[in-house]
Amino acid sequence: MFGLAETFTKQSELINLTGVYKNELETIKLLHILPADRNTYFNKLTQQLLGNLEQPTDKQICAERSRFLREEGNRVYKSKSAKNVANSVECLLAACRLYTQAILAAENAYDELSLGYANRGMALQDFGYFEQAYDDCAAALDSGYPQKLQHKLIMRQAHCAWKMGDARKLEEHLSSLRGLELNQSYRQQLEQLKQQLKLMENTQRLEELKSQQQEPRKTHEIIRENGSRGRHMLAKELIPKGDQIFKEQAKCFVPIEQRLICQRCASVLMCAPIPCPDCHQRVVYCSRRCRQLHATIHSYECAAYRCDLLKMLGVSHLALRLLLTYLPQLLSQLHGCKNATEIWQSLMSLTGHDYHETAPQSVQSLNMISHLDKASPEELVYHTLCANLLQVYLHKCTNFYDVLKTGSNKNISSEDWHLVIAALILRFAGQLLVNGHVADAIIPISLPSNEFALLQPSLWQSPHHLRLGFLHKLSQSALITAINLPYLSLCNHACSPSIRTRFDGCTVSNFAAEEIKSGEEIFNCYTLDCRNSLSFQRQAQLQDVYKFNCCCNKCQREKQDQDYFKFHRYRCERSECQEIFVPHSLPNQENCSWWLQPDDNVNISCSICGKTQLFTWYDDFLQLLEHCQEPKLRRQLYKAFDNLNNWLLDYHSLKLSLAKELIEACFAAKEGVHLNDFDYGQLSSIIEFQLAGIAAQSGNNSLEYISKLTYLLDLIAWKKHKCHAQDLKSMRSTFEYLSEETRRIFVNYYNDFIEQ
Ligand SMILES: [Zn+2]
Ligand SMILES: [Zn+2]
Ligand SMILES: [Zn+2]
Ligand SMILES: [Zn+2]
Repeated sequence: MFGLAETFTKQSELINLTGVYKNELETIKLLHILPADRNTYFNKLTQQLLGNLEQPTDKQICAERSRFLREEGNRVYKSKSAKNVANSVECLLAACRLYTQAILAAENAYDELSLGYANRGMALQDFGYFEQAYDDCAAALDSGYPQKLQHKLIMRQAHCAWKMGDARKLEEHLSSLRGLELNQSYRQQLEQLKQQLKLMENTQRLEELKSQQQEPRKTHEIIRENGSRGRHMLAKELIPKGDQIFKEQAKCFVPIEQRLICQRCASVLMCAPIPCPDCHQRVVYCSRRCRQLHATIHSYECAAYRCDLLKMLGVSHLALRLLLTYLPQLLSQLHGCKNATEIWQSLMSLTGHDYHETAPQSVQSLNMISHLDKASPEELVYHTLCANLLQVYLHKCTNFYDVLKTGSNKNISSEDWHLVIAALILRFAGQLLVNGHVADAIIPISLPSNEFALLQPSLWQSPHHLRLGFLHKLSQSALITAINLPYLSLCNHACSPSIRTRFDGCTVSNFAAEEIKSGEEIFNCYTLDCRNSLSFQRQAQLQDVYKFNCCCNKCQREKQDQDYFKFHRYRCERSECQEIFVPHSLPNQENCSWWLQPDDNVNISCSICGKTQLFTWYDDFLQLLEHCQEPKLRRQLYKAFDNLNNWLLDYHSLKLSLAKELIEACFAAKEGVHLNDFDYGQLSSIIEFQLAGIAAQSGNNSLEYISKLTYLLDLIAWKKHKCHAQDLKSMRSTFEYLSEETRRIFVNYYNDFIEQ
């Protein structure tokens, strides 16, 4: 049995893609003109791979696992104490978490699945997540909840509808309860809800319709087409620092690092994930609505998720998403096409025109640049084989081809579609290699990728309200999606970008990172910027991936690395010297951050006197860090941190890194030992130092900055750090750079504990 790697190796021996690269379609055609015996073996390998990857479900095992988890959940749910609120809250969330695991584990064992939903709905309702509880009842009813108990769920839905202020839904559920035989307590509940409905109708509460309208687009920027420069973006007028320049609604993204986020809206936190029951717990949604909106796309991906094919394909997964989303939208452009070549010509005729920002995203995406023509032979073979594999998959395992064979396209043969589909996947993959973006988000520290933030029992006191002192649990940011943003992709690269990008699920906004003058070009940065990387490192990456040499104004300076070296200035340890130096480039090092390397036998020598530095202060610091729960050694640790000032200048990267370790260690220690005012005073100033350093290195609206601000906000919430109203205001204003779901939590925390 061959896996993906062996299959691709065998297949690459059968094909020959060398020669002049023409385009994606011609490349794919080369796979289809193999001599008959090779062709048969090539296709057999693909089929075998898809067969080998099958992961059948054992319904009985799923049912048993799910039942066990649900019963665990029931036990925890019942153990909640009516008197102790904190305990009750913790039990409710722990139960929700177990019910969620039961729902995931049930897969398509529908009896268990429906019971899991019903029980989670009950716990969510008790906790106050009414919308999600409502959804869970509906999901339980969908998946075959026992008839004789259904009135319980309908009553719960009615109750949730009342809490959600949704009169229409409340009325609907009350009327379906009308004819049923109910016991005394249910009859009472019904009467109460009828009263509520009257009240709601009397006050004529209009359902707030979420405005579907797009914000009127400010036209801060224009796109210019210019022969030698290519497309680029210019400021039409002066754009003040912090102003939003443009906003883009992504149609395609895929989760990365196997993190379970909503596949439709990229919601990360989630309290009631709804899984697809058919693909082994690998796909979830934040709501039934999101699941429904994503149903078509998922119907083409479900089988691939089931055999875990997609995680092996890297960028080609996002390329597949682009195909599934955009090709059906482009079909109307293909009238009268008879074969693959004509289809390809029609599609390519949509590209290459002067850029229209009003063009649909499908056309914008077809227009993105690609460097497949400059790719290494191995790279080209790999992406071609991925595209072929996905095309065979779509044909064999899904009904995607049925969508294509409609209207005037009915007569195009499957063979022609094989070519076009594989060629389009290859094209998108090539484009995404140089245009794909990755989005980051704040997540709780050390949260496993299959856990859900809002269900962590120790964190929350009520829906979306953290407990006092727990904001720093959200001090981590992580990459969560690979996302297609064709409009943002029009920005050229500079080593110091003029924009700051905010990712909020699929809504991506770009702000001016500094004042941009009228007529100036607007730049993104494709690599780490000049404050965070060495110029030769960036140049290598830009050449390797993006195939160009940067000659931005940072790169044209004589001292190209001065912005980076600012964070790497040492003072020589030798008393005779004591000069300030930046280390010469270190052997086998991509940067000056030697402490991040596993091999710590790094010799750093003073570039003035040439003597090797001992760095005993570094070892001392690390040793003390291990013992920061002991008050005496903790005091020495603060001293050791102060002592760093002798050797590490300004916002030295190493000092910032050690500040981070110290802060994390002390906050972790706080859970077991008592910290006094002296500790808090020390911590305050170390956190302020760290924040100032991050602001200098990455800006005070970066996710890095906001995530570390959580430590200071916790100290303020504990009344252990005082700061001016003006400072509070500017801290509060950074929340604007968070995604909506995270901002809500930060704002609640601020209102609950900081500025009550
Ligand atoms: Zn969603
Ligand atoms: Zn599925
Ligand atoms: Zn540059
Ligand atoms: Zn020296």
